[in-house]
Amino acid sequence: DALDPSSRALVERRMNTLGTSYRLFYRRPVQIVRGLGTRLYDAEGREYLDAYNNVASVGHCNPAVVAAVTEQLNTLATHSRYLQDGIVEYSERLLQTFPEPLNRVMYTNSGSEANDLALRVARHHTGGTGIVVTSEAYHGTTASCAEVSPSDGGGGLPGHVIAVDPPNPYRHEGDTSVVDAFAARVTRAFETLRERGHQPAALLVDTIFSSDGVFPVDGALQAAFAAARAAGALVIADEVQPGFARVGTPFWGFARDNAVPDLVTLGKPMGNGVPVAGMVANTEILEAFGRDVPYFNTFGGSSVPVAAAAAVLDEIEQRRLFENAETVGAVVRAGMEELAGRFPEIGDIRSAGLYFGVELVADPETREPATAFAADLINACRDGGLLISVCGPTSSTLKIRPMLTYTRADAELLVERLGDALEVVRRQAKAGVA
Ligand code: PMP
Repeated sequence: DALDPSSRALVERRMNTLGTSYRLFYRRPVQIVRGLGTRLYDAEGREYLDAYNNVASVGHCNPAVVAAVTEQLNTLATHSRYLQDGIVEYSERLLQTFPEPLNRVMYTNSGSEANDLALRVARHHTGGTGIVVTSEAYHGTTASCAEVSPSDGGGGLPGHVIAVDPPNPYRHEGDTSVVDAFAARVTRAFETLRERGHQPAALLVDTIFSSDGVFPVDGALQAAFAAARAAGALVIADEVQPGFARVGTPFWGFARDNAVPDLVTLGKPMGNGVPVAGMVANTEILEAFGRDVPYFNTFGGSSVPVAAAAAVLDEIEQRRLFENAETVGAVVRAGMEELAGRFPEIGDIRSAGLYFGVELVADPETREPATAFAADLINACRDGGLLISVCGPTSSTLKIRPMLTYTRADAELLVERLGDALEVVRRQAKAGVA
């Protein structure tokens, strides 16, 4: 199973040049040299079905995006302090995908910056500093985002941040419903923050609870948003992962639950690989902040990223990829349910559109998390030409995010390769191979 010599040499050079924070995927890292559509290719020309990259969601090297970016680079690349029609036209189109009263957009270069800006706006608007997040949340790399990212590994949370468990129907216990229990945790967290002297600023949630383990639970966002507002906090919906039609026709994770946030942060798939991100809000919330802060972001909203974002939106809308996310998502889901019938290690399948969380258990009765099995499985998938990963507090939930451009054949291949990998890992376990 050793790495080929050229990849091994590259790993070494990488270790000798990059900071120690960097991690590689897989026991045998994949050296990707090319991407096309739903596939990635390694240095030896091996093809992988990509079921993980949530950035190239309209396909790797999407020709329409490449053409738009190339043309824009050949025409003009400058910032938002000059009058340009591209940013206005894109903003008008983007805002049409949002419900009232979300009617203004600001641009950044990353999801982290978008969340950082949303936190700033929420503090400014409420005068508070208290933030509630979920227990395995990840919201970004800036100092303020790291403070609200319990899964960041940077130690405990500061006093003005409280993490609550996500709504988890698979592991929920007690008499109250999973939705009510989640809302009650939000309410209690804001009370605790007040007791500590931190007035409420915001509830910040990934609207599909990506790193918590994927929980598209009906009613949970609505109930939690109401609880946060009753406490005097704003609601920030982090759409960096579920946004841009990954959950299907609702287009946004919050819209899947008919819930309306105050601030929305966008990123990852927005530019299909070109760094572009942003924050959506309403005029009323932005007004005082806008008066006090003359926000300027050199690359945020500049010509090239906006051209990429416009091409991505064209692709999603013209090819009706939000519908594809639902129809192809249903094919994947059905295939996984069939696998669950054969493999008792699959304890729970959670999905919305083309976002899947597949929880693995060592024992279907006790629901003990199958952490080692999950790690073996994603490595077996990698060896079998399928790229996925894990999430959740025990890293035992498969995180699967196929491109919005998946065909039915891609979906069937995903299920086939996942089934093959399950077979391999089960055989290894039986043979006592680690
Ligand atoms: N929010 C969520 C939910 C994310 O998954 C990420 C990135 N993994 C971010 C924010 C930060 O985005 P970026 O890496 O673009 O700064």
